[in-house]
Amino acid sequence: MAELAPYAANPESSRGRLIPEGRPEGRTEFQRDRDRIIHSSAFRRLEYKTQVFVNHEGDLFRTRLTHSIEVAQIGRSIARNLQLNEDLVEAISLAHDLGHTPFGHAGQDALNECMQSHGGFEHNLQSLRVVDLLEERYGAFDGLNLSFETREGILKHCSVKNAALLGEIGERFLQKKQPGLEAQLANLADEIAYNNHDVDDGLRSGLITLDQLSSVSIFARHFETARAAYPEIMGRRLIHETVRRMINSQVIDLTQQSLCNIRSAMPKHIDEVRFSPPLIAFSPEMREAQHELKQFLRTRLYQHYKVTRMSVKARRIVSDLFHAFTQDNRLLPIQFQEKVEKGSDIMRVTADYIAGMTDRYAIREHRRLFAVEEIPF
Ligand code: MG
Repeated sequence: MAELAPYAANPESSRGRLIPEGRPEGRTEFQRDRDRIIHSSAFRRLEYKTQVFVNHEGDLFRTRLTHSIEVAQIGRSIARNLQLNEDLVEAISLAHDLGHTPFGHAGQDALNECMQSHGGFEHNLQSLRVVDLLEERYGAFDGLNLSFETREGILKHCSVKNAALLGEIGERFLQKKQPGLEAQLANLADEIAYNNHDVDDGLRSGLITLDQLSSVSIFARHFETARAAYPEIMGRRLIHETVRRMINSQVIDLTQQSLCNIRSAMPKHIDEVRFSPPLIAFSPEMREAQHELKQFLRTRLYQHYKVTRMSVKARRIVSDLFHAFTQDNRLLPIQFQEKVEKGSDIMRVTADYIAGMTDRYAIREHRRLFAVEEIPF
């Protein structure tokens, strides 16, 4: 690995884990975090969770798992060029969506509504809850007991009310400070990944068309370059040539603008980064271009009537499940009933159970509870 810059997160001087542990052998603290994340059950469930398209809609659409891997790839490439800690960026990227409900944002909105009187539900906070509490794999602690820097990156936003309940990890939201550069980078790598793969998946699904996309400047520009470079190619190959150029241009822009910001702020330590304004950033021109693209995706893809139909169905499933379990907790699997018996709030236990479901598991669970015909158990 390239030498770390002084402003990078250094595993040797990590702020540590909630439960102190011996130093890892043959790997760094952040590599250990990444390894724990990859071995968790929440990580494996990402394979069957919706990014935009529900898992059963097609084999080639992004899932939360492939999305997270793309975020890690983009984040690591940029980290290397900025001399940041690649392992930490990778760990944060792979963990950033662990708290997502089934059915993407539709599922989270429904669960949040159900939990209104009980502190709400927020996927980002849930990701932290997964790694801090919900994974049950170790004898000595609940959760994965990750390093402060990884947890700081996972909690990318948080309301002041929730931050006040979180102790050290919530402090920066109260003091209006920034996280380390690796966390800032993972957040923007997430944006690069979804903006571009949603164009690709949107076209694949047929819900958006090349003709519509020709009104989006960043797409139109790279489409023309790709066509000029390979006049004979068409269809998916031309789309890939366009999308890869879009990703590349955003990666280069982010790297250059961030280097420029870092050079003028000259942080000498990660703690100075925390007191600086955000340093990992796109240029104003790229921000503008991304804004136009996001606007397009929102109106043409995320609000497309076919996506809306699935979202409405998803909300119904999540809310039906929630009400069934909270009205009669005998319907919960034994291990969740036991948590309630030991004094945990039934609402939160149910939210944890539902949030952990994959799309297809939630659909099956809904059928098991509501279908009148015989359903195999
Ligand atoms: Mg994401």
